[in-house]
This record gives sequence, C-alpha cells and structure tokens, in this order.
Amino acid sequence: MTQPYPFEAPASADLFDRGRKVIPGGVNSPVRAFRSVGGTPRFMTSAQGPWLTDADGRRYVDLISSWGPMILGHAHPDVLEAVTATAARGFSFGTPSENEVALAEEIVARVDPVEAVRLVNSGTEATMSALRLARGFTGRSVVVKFAGNYHGHVDALLAHAGSGVATFALPDSAGVPASAAGETIVLPYNDLAAVEAVFAERGDEIAAVITEACPGNMGVVPPLPGFTDGLRRVTREHGALLISDEVMTGFRVSKAGWYGHENATTPYSFGAPDLFTFGKVMGGGFPAAAFGGRRDVMDHLAPEGPVYQAGTLSGNPVASAAGLATLRACDDDLYTRLKATAGTIAQATSEALSAAGVPHRVQFAESMFSVFFTAADVDETHVAGDVSDPVIDYDGAQRQDTAAFGRFFHAMLSRGVHLPPSAYECWFVSGAHDDEAINVVLDALPHAARAAAEG
Ligand SMILES: *Cc1c(COP(=O)(O)O)cnc(C)c1O
Repeated sequence: MTQPYPFEAPASADLFDRGRKVIPGGVNSPVRAFRSVGGTPRFMTSAQGPWLTDADGRRYVDLISSWGPMILGHAHPDVLEAVTATAARGFSFGTPSENEVALAEEIVARVDPVEAVRLVNSGTEATMSALRLARGFTGRSVVVKFAGNYHGHVDALLAHAGSGVATFALPDSAGVPASAAGETIVLPYNDLAAVEAVFAERGDEIAAVITEACPGNMGVVPPLPGFTDGLRRVTREHGALLISDEVMTGFRVSKAGWYGHENATTPYSFGAPDLFTFGKVMGGGFPAAAFGGRRDVMDHLAPEGPVYQAGTLSGNPVASAAGLATLRACDDDLYTRLKATAGTIAQATSEALSAAGVPHRVQFAESMFSVFFTAADVDETHVAGDVSDPVIDYDGAQRQDTAAFGRFFHAMLSRGVHLPPSAYECWFVSGAHDDEAINVVLDALPHAARAAAEG
C-alpha cells in the first residue's frame, strides 16, 4: 500500500468541499481539519480492528484510535454484540435503566477513591460539572489549572490549554468572558513552588486545583515524582479540592487509570484526589463520560444536594452498554499487550528519527506515548540525532519543529499509517494492532524520518 507523496484523495476532497459549505472548517472538532499539517483530511467510511478505510478505498493503520476510546480496536465483536443487542430493545428511555448502574458500578469497582459517579455525555461536560460541584461544595470560586493541560472546551478552562488549542497556538478562545477566565489561575505544569506561592496568597478563595492525571494533550508529560502528592498536600492544607482529569488516561494506562498506576508505583502519602473525571475509553466509542469521587462531595449534586446538573441523554443505555463491554475486556492481558505494542512502535520511531538525524524525544505514560519533534536548539550541547532533553512543561512542549512533524505525518499517511494530525497529540494503540498492522508502521518509519529531515 505505498502511494506516491503527496497523493490524491479525490473522494475525501469532495466530501471536505461539501462539508465546508455547511460546517465551519468542514469538521466538527478543529484538529480533524489538518490545518497544522496541511492537505486534505481523510473522510473515513469504515473501520475494523486496527484499520481505517477512507472514502477513496485506501486502508490506514489507525494510530488515533478515536483519540483513545477504541482501545480494543474498531468494531470489537463483544462491543458490537452489546450495542446491537441493546439497541434492538430501544435507544433511550428518559428514565433510569440497568446499564447505567452497571457502568457506574464498574467504574467505582476499578478506581478505589471513587465512591460514586454521575454519567454525562462528554469529557467537557465532566470537567465543567466537576468544577461546578467543587465550587458548590467549597463556596469558593477560583480554580487553578496548568498550562498545556486540556480539560475540554469549558470556558473557565480554555486558558493556556493543550490539544487543539495548542495546535492552533491560541492563547485563549474568543468568546470566553473575562469574568470566566478571571476566576482561573494558570500555572506552569510540574512547578509545585508556583502552586504553593499562589495558595499562600489566595488559598481561601481557591475552590479546586484541576490537573490532567498525566498530561497527554501537550504530548505526554508525566508528573515529576511527588508532584501529584504535593498538589494533594497543598489543596488539603487550604481546604480546596483536587480534581484529577482522567478523561484520557482513565482505563487506558491501567485498569484504574493513572491513579492506579502512580499510586501502585509511588503510593500517595497525602491521599487520593477528591474528584475524578473520565471519558474516552469508558464510552467505547459512544458519547459517555463521568465525574465522580468522594461520597460526601458527590452528595452535593441534585437531587441529593443543591448543585444542579442534568442531561437528556446522560446514562444512555446503548452508550453505557458499549462502555461496559469495553471496560470488561480491558483486563491485565490487554494492558500488557498495549504496552508491548506501544514500546515496539515508539522504539522503531526513535531509531528511524535518529538514523535520519532528526532531534526528538519520546515520552510515555504506560501505553500512551508521544514523539516530541523538539527543535535542535533546545540545548546546544545536543547535536542533530541526539535525543533531546525531557519535556516537563508546556514551554518545553512548544519548542517543537512542527514543520518537520508535518512532513513526517504526510509521509506516514502516504504509506498507509494515520497518525494524529498534530505534533501535540499522543499516539494511541489498541489491542487489535497485530503484526501485520505493526509491520506497516515499521516499514513506513524510515521513509517518514527522512522526509522529516529534508527541511
Ligand atoms: C479529551 C479530553 C477532554 C475533553 O473530552 P471531550 O469528550 O472531547 O469533551 C477533557 N480532558 C482531557 C484530559 C481530555 O483528554
């Protein structure tokens, strides 16, 4: 499946033209438009296992995995069976139903500090609702977030966010009132001294600190040892809540997400976060997300308490069935396999880039990883081909050669590998990535690395 580069995609181009007439930018989420890599986004018509098929009939190995949810691969038989059997009994009741209880039970069983959850429809809704709950619980209004951390397109959290906001280098979004942004304090990630300084000054106004459990929206930037624990200590000292956003890491990096992984390797001495947010994997490819945590905090939600939160389709039976079937297949075996696949692809990528003399750095959170095309001038002691310095914050992540990534991306695409179309995103593997799919990636890498080098 080798195509000349750049290659034509006439059916996708036609669909993109049609889309642009009726949808801003032709897409329903900005990063899909390929703006940072250029060219025509591929419109997919089907997906199976590790493969995507586009409107022109070309196949690609999928390293987006729908940004995480397709952890088992596309159209996994267990999930398909659960979805079709459930849908045959009706799509939405507007009343409670068993599937949502079963999905909530599964989440509570997996993540120890989560005693209760509420289901919502997107990660954005989860973080928005968790913030409202934290403000309602504490009676305070200020929220602390970290630069390069993305929590969905919640007004108060769009300041210095990662993901699409990083891709487009938007400092903030237009349309966010100063009053909303004014209640948000943005600090550098992994800088506990900055957190302590802000709390020393304004601790009694701060409702919550929200952090990505392990950031993945500016590339993978793990918390330094003690950072998460330090956030727990400082928030507790000042009566603020700690919200761990596991929308990306939840049920992907381990059975119990980043919490399960980090607490197992370096136990938290000051306790667990108060609230967690989940999405992506737990919906199995359908719109389902959740927030949850301490029982006494969660009981502030309506109808038990005074914090209002609701949703017409929340806990949808079909979405809940997809999520539950997905989580039930996420066993120890799967996580072992995901890590091995990620390791193979990441190592081959690094070797290919080194051979072509492209400075870079690969960072991991278990099976989540990203490749920073870190510019050679990060540190003049590094020569081209060296692995660059660790990236620990947003400033470091932004020192990337995004043009080199664009060339790399298109060379991979032309050889049948669909990477996330941005240098700031993780590469996501699935349990369905078999030898055939992995070999397509390995074969493409040396060509793509040379394309990246030809700046
Ligand atoms: C994807 C993501 C969100 C937003 O979820 P949506 O379902 O896109 O609204 C929030 N937080 C993190 C950490 C994410 O990765």
